[in-house]
Amino acid sequence: MKILICGGGNGAHCFTALASACPNVEVNVLTVYEDEAKTWTTALKSDELTVSISKPDGSVTETRSKPSLVTNDIKVAVAGVQIIFIVVPSYVHHIYFSLLALHIQPNTLIVGLPGHAGFELQCLDMLGNKSSNHAIVGFESLPWACRIIEYGKRVQLLGYKDILHASFLVGTNCNLQFPAIETIQSILGSKPRIKVVSNVFAITLMTGSIIHPPIMYGKWKNWDKTPLPVKPLFYQGVDEEQASIASKLSDEVVKTAKQIQDACPDLDMSQVVHLSDWFKSHYHDEIGDNSSLMTSMRTNSAYEGLVHPMKAVENRYVPDFEYRYTTEDVPFGLVVMKGLAVIAGVATPTMDKIIQWAQSIMGKEFIIGTDLVGKDVKFSRAPQSFGLNTLEQVQDYIKSRIR
Ligand code: NAD
Repeated sequence: MKILICGGGNGAHCFTALASACPNVEVNVLTVYEDEAKTWTTALKSDELTVSISKPDGSVTETRSKPSLVTNDIKVAVAGVQIIFIVVPSYVHHIYFSLLALHIQPNTLIVGLPGHAGFELQCLDMLGNKSSNHAIVGFESLPWACRIIEYGKRVQLLGYKDILHASFLVGTNCNLQFPAIETIQSILGSKPRIKVVSNVFAITLMTGSIIHPPIMYGKWKNWDKTPLPVKPLFYQGVDEEQASIASKLSDEVVKTAKQIQDACPDLDMSQVVHLSDWFKSHYHDEIGDNSSLMTSMRTNSAYEGLVHPMKAVENRYVPDFEYRYTTEDVPFGLVVMKGLAVIAGVATPTMDKIIQWAQSIMGKEFIIGTDLVGKDVKFSRAPQSFGLNTLEQVQDYIKSRIR
């Protein structure tokens, strides 16, 4: 099996290290940033890539391996590959989709690891008629919490999720020569266990991108702009109010799923569950106390030591609102979910408050009042940004290319 990993960040490093260590898997890496390709290539000349894996019991193991090549040349990167994993923040997906649209061979499997809300619609849109020649898998989140320690040389895997949901769409003209999900599972290893979600509406409402925005909003909505002496803990610092906002947001997402289920009984939306249940199933082994949503986040060993995104200012810290917890998780998360809620006719007062706060700090406009009519909706992946305004239109759009 020959695979391509697109990206040069934390997730791409972690997955490259794990996949390159698999017997019978050859790994190419493509990063469009020339400096990343050069730095990583230089690092691999002198040593292998090491992933240090932290276990819930506190022990650490190390795996060392090497990809075949790291390049910024798409033609070299895609030659002979059967699976393409896109492992970058979702605001970068369009860059890789536009390259793939020109260069991939029919019957290639495209995997968003993670996909984030709207991945499948954007992939179908940007690949156009060619999308019917491919299969698409979109994961709800990244399988691991991970951070680069030294570029091209060392990455830390802080914890695995236990399960991970994924969409699976096969184009009308696609003839994959291998079992898609089983092959991805064998490359990921035993954890997380992949669970296929039966439709795109459900994966879009899965919880990956609803975790960070309510915590950011709860923490910083009344910030008086005074720099802080230390970086506050992100998950271990979650308080009752932040957990309550996250819980209410999750209620609205679950309500949207139920409404879609009622309107389209043939769609199975049962995998869209409340955030509390999501934590229990995805981090069963890592959570010390799952008696509440707040404790599930505070006692999750995979999140240990993770801090709020902050920028240093004269030996003190201010929040970094350009970090992906807002710039990714709002346009490629909440705004997409808001789009489905609008289509399903569900009111979302908590989601609206968070989007309003986030769009003001980002200098964007997605909603006006509670209506999804802002000038920047077209840069999000809400169904409306693809001209899809009803459940039937979304279904027909997908069915026109997918078996
Ligand atoms: P990252 O921030 O490390 O990715 C940065 C990389 O993306 C860069 O090194 C570059 O290769 C590419 N990139 C960024 N901006 C670009 C641009 N403008 N043009 C071209 N390339 C660009 O991200 P990550 O930590 O690897 O996360 C990948 C995805 O997984 C994200 O969607 C993230 O939300 C999600 N995720 C990450 C973690 C984690 O622990 N790292 C956990 C859960 C989910």
